[in-house]
Amino acid sequence: MTARSYEVRTYGCQMNVHDSERLSGLLEDAGYVRAPKGEPADVVVFNTCAVRENADNKLYGNLGHLAPAKAERPGMQIAVGGCLAQKDRDTIVRKAPWVDVVFGTHNVGSLPVLLERARVEQEAQVEILESLDVFPSTLPTRRESAYAAWVAISVGCNNTCTFCIVPALRGKEKDRRPGDVLAEIETLVGEGVIEVTLLGQNVNAYGSDMGDREAFSKLLRSCGRIEGLERVRFTSPHPRDFTDDVIAAMAETPNVMHQLHMPLQSGSDTMLRAMRRSYRQDRYLGIIERVRAAMPDAAISTDIIVGFPGETDEDFEQTLHTVREARFAAAFTFQYSKRPGTPAATMDGQVPKEVVTERYQRLLALQEEISWAENRTQVGRTLEVLVAEGEGRKDHDTARLSGRAPDNRLVHFERPADGVRPGDMVSVEITYAAPHHLLAERPPLAIRRTRAGDAWERRTATPAPSPGVLLGMPSVGAPVAVGAPTATAGCCD
Ligand code: SF4
Repeated sequence: MTARSYEVRTYGCQMNVHDSERLSGLLEDAGYVRAPKGEPADVVVFNTCAVRENADNKLYGNLGHLAPAKAERPGMQIAVGGCLAQKDRDTIVRKAPWVDVVFGTHNVGSLPVLLERARVEQEAQVEILESLDVFPSTLPTRRESAYAAWVAISVGCNNTCTFCIVPALRGKEKDRRPGDVLAEIETLVGEGVIEVTLLGQNVNAYGSDMGDREAFSKLLRSCGRIEGLERVRFTSPHPRDFTDDVIAAMAETPNVMHQLHMPLQSGSDTMLRAMRRSYRQDRYLGIIERVRAAMPDAAISTDIIVGFPGETDEDFEQTLHTVREARFAAAFTFQYSKRPGTPAATMDGQVPKEVVTERYQRLLALQEEISWAENRTQVGRTLEVLVAEGEGRKDHDTARLSGRAPDNRLVHFERPADGVRPGDMVSVEITYAAPHHLLAERPPLAIRRTRAGDAWERRTATPAPSPGVLLGMPSVGAPVAVGAPTATAGCCD
């Protein structure tokens, strides 16, 4: 009998991207194989996100497109998971009765069982739990990259930011034991991974569950003792919980990168209060000052929301002021849009669309100018770049390769004559800076072949029918394959 094929469609933040690695791992563990790109799958899983306005309309549109395919393909199954499933529950099968399985954010591990039950009972299965029973990292994971990996250290969030749906859908923060986190990282490194990104909705609150306020900095320092682990990143920290011991750990642990993505959201104290974010502009800028004092080469990026309900011109000026002071290397800027189910969605003082757009354009122009100026400071420097796969969209046409500098800046460089593989390290001299990337217009000065490059080569050379499932907790079983994407912006911290 041929194995049934699957496809996972992912929407939203890194937490969902990592959950999708788990969903793939679970399905492969249960005997499914990934459907080749562009070919129809026997099981289509939607891992949904609830933060965007109209996310539900888009989901029902996508489900509607699949209905005829399902009618023509006996045995095909459709599953919907993630935040929107957690939020809408039974509504999904009411509106799209051809859906077979609905599961929530707390029970991703149930997917294979629910699919099987739906098949045997010929009836849609809806299972949503209110809290986590198993930490998701204990589940099998089908890692997307051979050289870099996400490692979840906590899930959920104890804050109540008024624009955010996470506390309602992902629940209270639950921390994973440090020993389990470190064991997972050691296993990943054993398989060839050289970069990990520690992941949490509010990553530096790690330890609140265990009553240890310094647990996060201790974890960073412990990562520094893992031989073979070359780069450690984390996302996303909350300014409220950003303590000086974390700055010291970053500065003193050689493999912790001097990169910080710390969401600002607004520079106005009034808006921060309305957002229920408990820091103020001066605290935020104070952290940045201390980070720069300890690590002058640190690249700091952020998330900013423009047009939060009640935002006045003066509030917005405060955001511009903070951006000028902070000199972010990059900023992910969002025009506020109502997120159903959040307190902000029903607040008075919703800002007219045209005002939001005008402010957004001004912020974008300012940040663009700063990003470009900050990037120009890199010209003439020699940087060690971790060669990546799929980071440079034009690499094929430009005969270049791409990767990330230690501070996570995107670098394109001339493809060397000698083979270089994703996962290898190259030293390049930066010759040109654009606002969003750096360019090395000459071949690398040096190439360092790494275990990660070997792991990439092994994985690429042997596209196994079941491409390898890593059990999240090494004590549960032996790993087969490894990896994951590099960090991008946080979703909502
Ligand atoms: S924005 Fe971040 S810190 Fe605030 S509630 Fe959402 S996940 Fe928690």
